[in-house]
Amino acid sequence: MRLDPLAYLGEQLLDWKQAGTFQPLRVLEGPSAAESRFDGHDVINLASNNYLGLTTHPKLIEAAIAATRKYGAGSGAVRTISGTMDLHMQLERRIAQFKNVEACVVFQSGFAANAGTVAAVLTPDDHIISDALNHASIIDGARLSRAKIHVYPHRDHVAAGNILSELAGEPGRKLVITDGVFSMDGDIGPLPELVAHAEQFGAIMMVDDAHSSGVLGRNGRGTIDHFGLHGRVDIQVGTLSKAIGVLGGYVCGTKDLIEFLYARARPFLFSTSHPPAVAAACLAAFDVLEEEPERIERLWENTRYFKKGLREAGFDTGLSESPITPVMVGDEAKAYQFSAALFEAGVFATGIAFPTVAKGKARVRTIVSATHTEAQLARALEVFARVGKRLGIVGI
Ligand SMILES: *Cc1c(COP(=O)(O)O)cnc(C)c1O
Repeated sequence: MRLDPLAYLGEQLLDWKQAGTFQPLRVLEGPSAAESRFDGHDVINLASNNYLGLTTHPKLIEAAIAATRKYGAGSGAVRTISGTMDLHMQLERRIAQFKNVEACVVFQSGFAANAGTVAAVLTPDDHIISDALNHASIIDGARLSRAKIHVYPHRDHVAAGNILSELAGEPGRKLVITDGVFSMDGDIGPLPELVAHAEQFGAIMMVDDAHSSGVLGRNGRGTIDHFGLHGRVDIQVGTLSKAIGVLGGYVCGTKDLIEFLYARARPFLFSTSHPPAVAAACLAAFDVLEEEPERIERLWENTRYFKKGLREAGFDTGLSESPITPVMVGDEAKAYQFSAALFEAGVFATGIAFPTVAKGKARVRTIVSATHTEAQLARALEVFARVGKRLGIVGI
């Protein structure tokens, strides 16, 4: 009999399972909402990026259905062949207007937007100056570009400035890149300082606002708006998959940047465009952002309430400044055990460990949304305190 050449994968899996570091998938049996049914359990959902509750907003659902009836289920091709629908163009114009920039290109996901853009604008002669905790899609884009990668310690803008200063005499372009809000810690990148360094050294400035789109800035315009840095960030990335509630990523910038990406970004050229339902639902989401700003207010009220409750219960919540609040555990198996015990008690918060975060920095990550009620959050806090004490994560 033929030996399975992939047998080593099974061995690796067995090791992870025995060490308690393999996390099985949780299966959602209905809509993603404040309270959802996963694996047959009704739980308070603190594990989704659906910040504003838009995944189930009637306007988005109706827009998706209407577009499907009018245009069908799929787009039929990549954007550059025959898969550009008027809906795709409308969405790009809508986002550019919302972000107050010249132009916008929409990708299939935030991941594709980052990886496709970084790889397209840089060459092996260039340099990328990147925060140590930037998202994996930025890291992959940097690797694909084959530019020289210079990683500075998390949020250390002085170190970023020093790298730029050391590279000042070197040939090649320099690109400074940071997440707006960091996905695993919930802290905010030092944009004003990084922008100043980029300007001083003539570097390109790029910000990934995946977790700040719909969350920070006026009507959720993101960190550039939050810090008042309009016109000073050359490449703004956002996602349509988190607060916007649907799927996709976008890049905003000058008309030339966007036309260049139309011509050279590989996910744009080689992967099929969004189904019409996705583009139409995203368009409806931008209407909701402008018509229902109270959703963002509720999100921040819930954020303050939940963070305060976790801190009062004695948890280490790191340095978060956003609706993402990590509950630090340290040990990988312990973080997964904590998450599993919370789930049994009716609260879903994901255990996050290596390779998503550094070894020894495992945590349970919580994300509140605008649609959680105070009663749900109070119940979640009570469960956290009880289970946290039982597992020795907080003192008694
Ligand atoms: C989630 C995320 C992405 C990827 O976005 P998708 O639309 O889910 O592909 C990119 N960057 C950051 C910082 C993220 O958190």
